This record gives sequence, C-alpha cells and structure tokens, in this order.
Amino acid sequence: MGKFVPGEHVKQSGIYRVHHDSHRLMHELSLRAGETFPCCKQCHQQVRFELIRTLRDDAILPFTSGSILEECWGLVKSHAR
Ligand SMILES: [Zn+2]
Repeated sequence: MGKFVPGEHVKQSGIYRVHHDSHRLMHELSLRAGETFPCCKQCHQQVRFELIRTLRDDAILPFTSGSILEECWGLVKSHAR
C-alpha cells in the first residue's frame, strides 16, 4: 500500500496512519473520499498518510482543521476535468 502526500485527493474513505517528520509520533486520522489530504502545521508537506482500514463514507465525519493538521488548499494542484 502506497503513501499519500498532502494536497492529494482521498480516493478511499478510511482510517489513515499519519507519519510525521521527527517532531511527532504517528497517529491516526479518518478521511473521506473526495477530501484532500491535509498538511501538518509543523512539518507541512513532510507528512505522509497510509491507509490502514477502509470505512464507509457515512461512517466518517468531514475533516476539520485541528491543532495538528490543517487544510492546505494552497498546495492543491488544479486538476483539469
Ligand atoms: Zn508534522
């Protein structure tokens, strides 16, 4: 299973393990398909996400910026549709 980077679109709803640069131990975060992987407030784009368990969309609350992670719209590349 590959790792995902901030700004990438979430394709699979589920629980993701969050790997930080050395400042913080890894933790877990639930994300829904269609959202964007967030940035870390400390290590920014160094954070990586790894899918550890899939869940139904309606089992997951929408992501909101918190004390550790925040939305990083500035990094999202525009996708041609
Ligand atoms: Zn971090």
